[in-house]
Amino acid sequence: MERIWSVLPQARLVGGCVRDFLCGRPVHDIDMASPLPPEEATPLLEAAGLKVVPTGLAHGTLTVVHESRPYELTTLRHDVETDGRHAVVAWTDDWREDAARRDFTINALSFDRAGKLHDEFGGVKDLAEGRVRFVGNAARRLEEDALRALRFFRFQARYGSGTPDGEAVAAIRAGVELTRRLSVERVASELLRLLTGPRLLPTLRLMEETTLLNVLLPQAQLVGLARLLDCGNMTEDEEAPSLLAVSSVQAQGRNEESEREERLGLLRLYALCPDEGLGARLKLSRLARHRLHVFAQNIPELSPDMTDDDLRRAAAGQELSLLEDRSWLLQAAELGRPDAGWEALRARIGAMTRPVFPLSGKDGLECGLQPGPALGQWLCRTRDWWLSEGCRPDAQACRQWLAQEIQRSESVR
Ligand code: ATP
Ligand code: MG
Repeated sequence: MERIWSVLPQARLVGGCVRDFLCGRPVHDIDMASPLPPEEATPLLEAAGLKVVPTGLAHGTLTVVHESRPYELTTLRHDVETDGRHAVVAWTDDWREDAARRDFTINALSFDRAGKLHDEFGGVKDLAEGRVRFVGNAARRLEEDALRALRFFRFQARYGSGTPDGEAVAAIRAGVELTRRLSVERVASELLRLLTGPRLLPTLRLMEETTLLNVLLPQAQLVGLARLLDCGNMTEDEEAPSLLAVSSVQAQGRNEESEREERLGLLRLYALCPDEGLGARLKLSRLARHRLHVFAQNIPELSPDMTDDDLRRAAAGQELSLLEDRSWLLQAAELGRPDAGWEALRARIGAMTRPVFPLSGKDGLECGLQPGPALGQWLCRTRDWWLSEGCRPDAQACRQWLAQEIQRSESVR
């Protein structure tokens, strides 16, 4: 950060990182803004040895990479024209204009290099009082971009406490039809992030009251999700690092964490709407659709008292994280409350390494088989035996078994 500031001293930290730092939450993505347009900022940053990737030039966004950490740097801008879905933006050098185009007061804060906090719209007070409030007139801001309705609930789930802002809720209710025109990709991404938030049920109930939940997910049933949450499927609240500590966080750790978040969002989405078709309707990734498919198929069987062999067999067929998520769904369906047995099963899954069948085609050839379908069949048979032995036999034992079986079948012929 200091490197970027040494080149662009007028740049500020903006948006979510400022908000999360102020309320003591972990800061992940660092967003900065500066009055310089991308074509002026780029050569300055590059001259200082920083790597610059033009990630969203139309919106004035560059990604600056420093010590393998990405920093998003955006040119100050204001919206000149919107159709409720896309904004046409123009550069500005006025920080207040840039803050005014942001959705909520708590997202319109910035920190300058000297450590001064700039709060144009009362975001600090709103954050302290747990109020999610639109910058400006709520109805107009929703007309500009209806996704903000969903974002309201995402931030409400995480930062809202006390009575939700009445103007916002009324405007969302009145403008709910606007959200039908949103691209499913944008809706899906906000929805999955909303579902990872704390205070989820009160927020979804409020969303239901405004009819937004029904418009976006007509099949949503809060009971299923409530049962999952009642099992103790909660987000862990991590300790709050300082901004300095954040700069040294490895990108790797961040990826793992965002994967975990995506998984949690998807699991809760399925608990809310147990419908495999949701994956295609929301245009989710192939991986996400696969997970929904496994949830819907109701396999493999899991139970707290299953043997280690059965658990290893299940893990040979599915990723461990899928087994873990399935255990939550099964516990929610069966019990709907915390349970030491299911917890212990998850601990066993967490401590496992996934068994991998140790043979490949090469081993078949070494045992004298010819390339072709018969080779595949022999390997399948060997794998079945390996599974029946609780996935314990190693490569040598599997090869031995295969050679023996080939010999036996030849002597029969
Ligand atoms: P998170 O930590 O959950 O990512 P965030 O505040 O960084 O929260 P983003 O969606 O990453 O949220 O957006 C970054 C910032 O961009 C926001 O803080 C807000 O100032 C602005 N922003 C994003 N989307 C919109 C929008 N649809 N309308 C207005 N401002 C927006
Ligand atoms: Mg962000």
